[in-house]
Amino acid sequence: MEFSARGLVLAERTVGEWDKSLTLLCEGIGKMSAWAKGAKRVKSPLLSACSMFTFGSYSFVKKGERVTVTSAQPEETFFGLRGDVRRLALAAYLCELCKTLCAEQQPEDALLSLTLNALYVLSAAKVQEEIVKPAFELRSLAQSGFLPSLESGCMVCGEQGGPMSFSPSAGGILCEKHAGTQRDCAPLSPSVFSAMRYVCTCDAKKLYSFRLPEIPLREFGEMGETYVKTTLGMQLQTLQFYRLLCDDIRKIEENQ
Ligand SMILES: [Zn+2]
Repeated sequence: MEFSARGLVLAERTVGEWDKSLTLLCEGIGKMSAWAKGAKRVKSPLLSACSMFTFGSYSFVKKGERVTVTSAQPEETFFGLRGDVRRLALAAYLCELCKTLCAEQQPEDALLSLTLNALYVLSAAKVQEEIVKPAFELRSLAQSGFLPSLESGCMVCGEQGGPMSFSPSAGGILCEKHAGTQRDCAPLSPSVFSAMRYVCTCDAKKLYSFRLPEIPLREFGEMGETYVKTTLGMQLQTLQFYRLLCDDIRKIEENQ
């Protein structure tokens, strides 16, 4: 069977000397694996379109369980990512998170659009990475069925006022009195609480249109990571790599 689709390469793995196994997120189809024969050869017509972070048009042939790419045209390679190793590492993490959240062969066009937009803002260096990471983490989880309860007050008593805490395992907020009922509750500063509500409900195109001062931004970043880790029940390897890279770059900058 032959078919075509536009899609984003979320992951690539070298197989043998010249072939690649790709994970694509395709419009109207969802996440799928495909074989790109000879895609590592310099003269291969598949070379650029079958690389990580590329969005393009792909033609496939399916024989049994195996899907093979027969032709591919890149539309956007997010070339700007290649100029900044930290942004590249963050892009790899966002793609792995997207890949983890997608069910196999179930249309995930909203998640695809969210991921493309994140790659675009990172590639164009239009938005601070520190905003992109937690905003993407929270929004992608919210869109995938893990919308935290932020709008109805404390999850136990419904209290709306006063200091609130967020519990990633309960998936919502708790008042001062009930914060102790969840072991992973962490106090939420009002600006981070507002940022979380904004990210969960705003128009996806305006996802990164807000600012936070440095300290709440760090708190927002930690919240995003903890919510992902708790929800998925694991830490993604690409996040560990991004974190180590950030630490190394900070140390180098401090010593200069
Ligand atoms: Zn309460």
